Amino acid sequence: MKVLVINAGSSSLKYQLIDTDTEKYLLKGLCDRIGMNGGSLEQKTADGRKYGVTADMPTHKEAIEMVLSALTDKQAGAISSVSEIGAVGHRVLHSGEDFHSSVVIDDEVVRKCEKNAELGPLHMPGNIACIKSCREVMPSVPMVAVFDTTFHSTMPAKAYMYGIPYSDYEKYKVRKYGFHGTSHKFVSEEAIKYLGADSCRRLIVCHLGNGSSISAVKDGKCIDTSMGFTPLEGLIMGTRSGDIDPAAVDFLRAKLGISSEEMVQYLNKKCGMKGISEVDSDMRVLEREMATGNSKAQLAVEAAAYRIKKYVGSFAAALGGVDAIAFTGGIGENSALMRRLVMQDTEYLGVEFDFEENEKRADGIRVLSAPSSAVTVLVIPTNEELSIARETVALVNGN
Ligand code: AMP
Repeated sequence: MKVLVINAGSSSLKYQLIDTDTEKYLLKGLCDRIGMNGGSLEQKTADGRKYGVTADMPTHKEAIEMVLSALTDKQAGAISSVSEIGAVGHRVLHSGEDFHSSVVIDDEVVRKCEKNAELGPLHMPGNIACIKSCREVMPSVPMVAVFDTTFHSTMPAKAYMYGIPYSDYEKYKVRKYGFHGTSHKFVSEEAIKYLGADSCRRLIVCHLGNGSSISAVKDGKCIDTSMGFTPLEGLIMGTRSGDIDPAAVDFLRAKLGISSEEMVQYLNKKCGMKGISEVDSDMRVLEREMATGNSKAQLAVEAAAYRIKKYVGSFAAALGGVDAIAFTGGIGENSALMRRLVMQDTEYLGVEFDFEENEKRADGIRVLSAPSSAVTVLVIPTNEELSIARETVALVNGN
């Protein structure tokens, strides 16, 4: 089946057309500046044909219409008619407590997403606008919502509860939800396929990219994760602070003389490795700066690695030991330095890390631990779009 996977933001929309029989993408594209002047669409097919157009897209509906004409373009498209699209898989940020898995979209699902929009005010309006537009433009094509949160819905209450009055949790649904679920799920499934379920009963997945999170996965099910009510909690990320004393937040806000909204923006955009280094959020830039002796860049990377190491230790405790640790995401897959900093001094867990193997570059799934290691350390390239396409097909086929 050909599945159109859509990942919509408030003013942008990324898409891929995936053939789920071969599990290969046919083309990928990006619509930028939706709702602004100077909109653009850029698309590239798997065999390298490029398509680009500039046109204003006042709403997501015009963006979807542009995507459909790009998909069916005679020279640079991948299908001859929209009827070849078997299903659409929408990435949706937040399920709230309403969904525990992906769902086929109907009016009721849209209503629940609208109710949960306040839980993800930056992403949910774009996600919902896109779902509505697709339903309007392609009324006969089945659509599936794949949430960033539902893989974590198996967390027990003791893991997702914050130390707040229970009545406030009930009234306002303030709790840990966790994010990057499609990636954690995909990587867990790949790890289980690669190692076998018995050798992967207690798995820690480290998704390290611009946004980063860690999950503890027992027998394929998430039991804890580092992100929380929002994607701000947990690790020190590219520009996000991660864990911080809540009292320090208001202290800083008052000192900076900014509003609560501006403070949330500050914690999301000005902190993390970018904030500490005062250079950049990009790991490649930070590695280059470190090589020239920039001590703040070094501190940023060391602080981020130290936080990951602490989460790995605490999740090993939560799992009662660990069988496998998987690195994924732009940093997890590519930064030998970050993996080395996280994995050194982890012999206490039973890890025999292969530092030489770690430095090599290679594609696909890689093992970075010695054959005698009690814990297998892996690099598993993530593929969130393929994960969404797989879920979409399974639901549309009634599985
Ligand atoms: P993602 O959000 O998963 O796309 O990951 C983006 C992050 O991965 C950025 O911090 C990049 O600097 C980092 N990254 C990508 N390629 C490399 C590389 N070859 N070495 C180090 N970091 C990398």
